[in-house]
Order: sequence, then C-alpha cells, then structure tokens
Amino acid sequence: MPAGRTPRPRLPTLSCVVPCRNEVANLALLLPQLTAQLAECSSGWEIVLVDDGSTDASAALFDEWSTRPGIVVLRLSRNFGKEAALTAGLEASGGEVVVMMDADLQHPPALIPSFVRYWLAGADVAYAVRANRQDESAFKQWGSRWFYRLLNLGDRFEVPPDAGDFRLIDRAVVQSLLALPERNRFMKGLYAWVGFDAVAVPYLPAERAHGASSYRPLRLVGLALDGLTAFTTWPLRAVSAVGGLLALCAFLYGAYLTLVYLLYGHVVSGWTTIVVGLMLFSGIQLVSIGVLGEYIGRIFEEVKARPLYIVKKLMGRGLT
Ligand code: UDP
Ligand code: MG
Repeated sequence: MPAGRTPRPRLPTLSCVVPCRNEVANLALLLPQLTAQLAECSSGWEIVLVDDGSTDASAALFDEWSTRPGIVVLRLSRNFGKEAALTAGLEASGGEVVVMMDADLQHPPALIPSFVRYWLAGADVAYAVRANRQDESAFKQWGSRWFYRLLNLGDRFEVPPDAGDFRLIDRAVVQSLLALPERNRFMKGLYAWVGFDAVAVPYLPAERAHGASSYRPLRLVGLALDGLTAFTTWPLRAVSAVGGLLALCAFLYGAYLTLVYLLYGHVVSGWTTIVVGLMLFSGIQLVSIGVLGEYIGRIFEEVKARPLYIVKKLMGRGLT
C-alpha cells in the first residue's frame, strides 16, 4: 500500500450494478451467489439490475426478484448499450461503494471481498485485471494490444490494458463519473480520466455461462473508434503531419523537374507517375476526411445533448 492511504474503519454499504441484455439463464445462477457474497462483505447492500432492452424471458425473472429486499430493477425503454446501462445503474445506486459487474458469470462474485479489503485499506478504486487473455481469439488479443497502444499515445493518464468494467469504486468516484457531461461514454477511459487511487486485482475470467457475447468483431471496432475519438486528438495531428510531409515532397519534386527542364530542356514524360500520384493523393485526402468525419460525428452526438438512456420502469427497493 502506498503511503497516504487512510484506512477506513468499517464495512461500506454496497451497491452492485449489473447491466443485463438477454441474460435470464445467467441471472438465475448469478443472483443467488451474489446475494450470499454481498451479505458477507458489506454493512448493507443492494443489487441494481439494469435491463438494457432484453428480448428474452427475463421480464418474469426481474418481476420476481424485484420483490425481494435489496433488489432494484431499472428497465430501460430499449437497448442503449452497456456503457449507457452502467451509467443508469450508477445514477440509481445509493451505496458508499459501487461494484460493477457483468451478468454472464465471467466476473466471479468471489472477487468482491478482496475489492472491499482494498477499499478498507484506503484505496478509492479496486479493479480486476485479466491475468491472461488466452481465452480470446488471436484477432481480439492483437486488436486490443494495438488499441491500448494507440489510446495511450501521449496522454497524462493511462488506460490500463486488460482491465474491464469489473471494479469497485468509492462514492466520490461515482460522483465524479456522473458529473462528466459527455454522451459518448467510453467507461474504461472515463475511469482513468477521473483519476483517484486505484489498485489492480488480478483474476482469471471464467467462460460465459450461457449465451454468446454481444460484442462481435465489427462492434468491437466501433467501440475502439468511440474510445479513440473520445480520448485522443493525435489522429488529427497525424493527418496534418502527413499532409505537410507530402506537400513538402511535392514541392521538392516540382523544383527538381523545373530544374531539369531549365538545364536540359526536356519535359519528363510520365503518364504512370501522374495516375499513381493522383490515386495516392486522393486516397490520402479521403482518409483524412474520414478521420475528420469520425470526430465531427462525435461532436454532432454531443451537441444534440439527448439523454443517455430512458428508464421505462423502476421496480423494487434498494438502499435509498
Ligand atoms: N450488455 C448490455 N447491453 C448491451 C450489451 C451487453 O447491458 O447492449 C451487458 C451483458 O448483458 C453483460 C455485459 O454487458 O452483462 C457484458 O456483455 P458481454 O458478455 O456480451 O461482453 P463481453 O464479455 O464479450 O465483453
Ligand atoms: Mg461477457
């Protein structure tokens, strides 16, 4: 433990936020485990289940569980995505600390007591990091390695690779996260951006118990673009740099051709050069416009200032 951490004297009241999209089979397994676990490591608890537009049979399960003490169900009006669902859960939570976890049993509830121990020792955030990524496809491993490299190019804060949403955060951190006004909520970046004293807790992610992950490769690419545009501006600079460099080359080449003409009087023939040059430069221009477009699209999303999510129904009673 680094110096400067003040231990906290007693167990916290704890909210557990679980975003769920079509997780009926998993929730039936998770909820009994979780309720047993939370009772042991808190002085009062609630589970905030955020139904992110499920289309399976989970409605009956939510109706039944929301009558039990400590279970709150937020039904969103449609699927808003995991990041929005997490924000909805954070807003509804009332505990001194909040634990966020997936519903698919990839995040073992058994890790929550060690999160709480770190909080008691004075940390503000305890986050789970995968001890390895061998369960993932080569594409996902390679993609995430590059994504974090690009994301962390020259920033004052670092987004830790291999960390996910499975974490415990103190109420002060919750408040800071909720105060951030942006609509594009790339949570892994936001956790790093708000700072605070964080401890990494290694764990081995389990297999998804039932169903399939909703993040297919194309959706992951979309998420990566959301993250990069929300937390970096270097692509814009890189595009300017490439433009500047090419302009310089073009100028030097033009000067050389003029010199050849003046000295030797012959015009260089070069249909191929022209066509190749034309294609190269229009390609680069289109890519640059694309990069600009990615940022402008995000600005458009932000200025519309629509709410992040809409709650259709709130069931059950938690800590508050
Ligand atoms: N999830 C959600 N809304 C979505 C997609 C996913 O609330 O649009 C939830 C899902 O029910 C699960 C968690 O987010 O509890 C993680 O999803 P998943 O297991 O599909 O992602 P992965 O583990 O592959 O990252
Ligand atoms: Mg999963």
